[in-house]
Amino acid sequence: MSFIGFVVGFCYIKAVEKKSHYRVVILGSGAAGLTAAIYAARANLEPLVIEGSQPGGQLTITTDVENYPGFPKGILGPELMEEFKRQAERFGTKTVFGDVTGVNLKQRPFQITAGKESYTCNALIIATGASAKLLGLESEKKLMGYGVSACATCDGFFFKEKEVVVVGGGDTAMEEALFLTKYATKVSVVHRRSELRASKIMQDRAKKNPRISFIWDSVLDDIYGNPKDGGVKGVRLKNLRSGASQDFKCDGIFIAIGHEPNTKLFAGQLEVDEFGYLKTHNGTSTNVPGVFACGDVQNRIYRQAITAARSGCMAAIDAEKFLESLEE
Ligand code: NDP
Repeated sequence: MSFIGFVVGFCYIKAVEKKSHYRVVILGSGAAGLTAAIYAARANLEPLVIEGSQPGGQLTITTDVENYPGFPKGILGPELMEEFKRQAERFGTKTVFGDVTGVNLKQRPFQITAGKESYTCNALIIATGASAKLLGLESEKKLMGYGVSACATCDGFFFKEKEVVVVGGGDTAMEEALFLTKYATKVSVVHRRSELRASKIMQDRAKKNPRISFIWDSVLDDIYGNPKDGGVKGVRLKNLRSGASQDFKCDGIFIAIGHEPNTKLFAGQLEVDEFGYLKTHNGTSTNVPGVFACGDVQNRIYRQAITAARSGCMAAIDAEKFLESLEE
């Protein structure tokens, strides 16, 4: 290769590497974001996915996924998300690892900052998800997916004929506890106060269920078990009134102390509902034309991979229509 050829080639590679404007940028790489990417890429929109701090999203903290259609034998959560990603990349999606640190939706094209990198786009799809609030114990982190879960619908099935603990006193905790009674023989709800926060109807249902019992005024101090040796074996409970600690045997722990939508980045720019989730109308449109939201960041009810994928698909179609209208 001649020197000039080398320089031209080098500059071309640099220019390609430095591409910073995209027609569509997708924030988040869970089921919603990557489904949006598959659809946007197949529409030749060459989307960019900024993966976020947990590439693959919430499914990467679960083990077996047995309710995603198309996998009759089940699939591991991280593997499923890897397949989503491969499928998105096959059609020309570019993915970059990184966490978005700022967005400016007040000017067009929209501006996105991810650390030292900045990007612009004509349409933005937000799929930043929601994070289950966790207790913050080291053992909880270690045993996540090995008996510790934040989703009974996802993981309850694995606790057939077992004994489980649910942490929390709100509607989610009651719902999770009731759901778990389909599988577990005993569900112990551990709540930090002596009064539930859950709605009366949910409280009544839970209290009437013979498989559910309550451990009041208590918190989890530690979780026992080893991921390589069957996972969770029990917990250490601390009674907040007496200060006394006791060991309690169980096979699984469901943390149900609420979820937090990942919307901080958009504060003051996008409308949120009373729980902080992004508000959408006409499918996945937000209050800013050209900005779409899908997955758990705009839906606090269903929180399933399949429902996230559904809205990711919708967001890509909505974004495509928006871009067409711009071009017209
Ligand atoms: P909530 O915030 O209502 O409840 C969280 C629960 O977890 C509270 O009981 C709280 O205790 C406890 N908690 C919080 N942090 C900790 C901690 N660090 N350690 C121990 N316990 C903790 O969240 P939910 O997810 O239950 O509900 C969110 C919203 O969604 C609510 O408005 C609820 O009504 C709604 N929802 C409705 C459903 C339905 O109608 N079917 C189903 C699920 C949710 P404390 O009470 O002491 O603050």
